[in-house]
Amino acid sequence: MLTMKECQCCLSPTPEATSICDVCGYDFEKKCITDARMLRQRVKQLKHAKDWISEVELKRRVHEIHTKNSTRWRFRISEDGWLEVGGRKWTFRSAAKLFNEQKSQIHTDLALAEALLQYPGFTWSDCPNKKQAIETKDEFDLLGVPPFFISESDLQKYIEGNWKTISVFREWNLTGSAVKIQGGEIDLLAHHRVNEKWLILELKKGLADDKTVGQVLRYIGAAKRDIAKDHEDVEGLIIAAGASKGLKDSMPIAPTINFMAYFMEKGKLDFLPAPFAFSSFFLRLIRLHGFDDAIEQLSKITQQTDSEE
Ligand SMILES: [Zn+2]
Repeated sequence: MLTMKECQCCLSPTPEATSICDVCGYDFEKKCITDARMLRQRVKQLKHAKDWISEVELKRRVHEIHTKNSTRWRFRISEDGWLEVGGRKWTFRSAAKLFNEQKSQIHTDLALAEALLQYPGFTWSDCPNKKQAIETKDEFDLLGVPPFFISESDLQKYIEGNWKTISVFREWNLTGSAVKIQGGEIDLLAHHRVNEKWLILELKKGLADDKTVGQVLRYIGAAKRDIAKDHEDVEGLIIAAGASKGLKDSMPIAPTINFMAYFMEKGKLDFLPAPFAFSSFFLRLIRLHGFDDAIEQLSKITQQTDSEE
């Protein structure tokens, strides 16, 4: 019987006598990738199959193996994709060169591979692409718990479908969703029941940042011109799982925009207004214990700090 071994980089089984893995170009003797073309071909296949998990895991293993061995082997990638011994020490730049991708892309992919290891309880295959996986990772990093919604459209559908039962929207009539406007698309648009004003809702499944504020300011400008009557006001509301520091810092310069963080309480979506919504610590408590318990936990912590003083 043919004895097999497993390639350290791509985990493919290969006959014991193989010197270079014919899936990823790993050289079993030199303990590094010596055929970069083969590796790039493998990445291309995984991209084509939309298998981002296998892609980032392959990149992580390749990077780890080369980092580990770089004191023994020094690398340079030649024009035709073969790895030559005798170059510099292994860095992110070397990885970017080996994969023929941007350094920033390698950074992102390795961070995703890290998140897979860090949050193993989450079904990462629920994220259909890297963009959603990055959003999920950011949410995990901020709140320490898995997301409620896998995609932004799930959040939008939920709010749209439950508009009338959500208390913060009591004063507003929903007038449209995915409203095309110059420079983009308004997620949800509402008009006040009594007053002459409009509300532009921008939804982010994960974290909102200062770019989100810029986006809403643009929509407000466009809506004032194209949707509102001359005497009508336009306000913005950003709803997200949490806020980046950039969002918090840019809110004071945009007084017509509000921010709220969403959370699920007893099977229903609820919202925490700013400035409480800027506290990732409080949001994490809510996610872990529910709103009422979070308040209780918080008052306990406050009491403790008080008695320590
Ligand atoms: Zn391999």
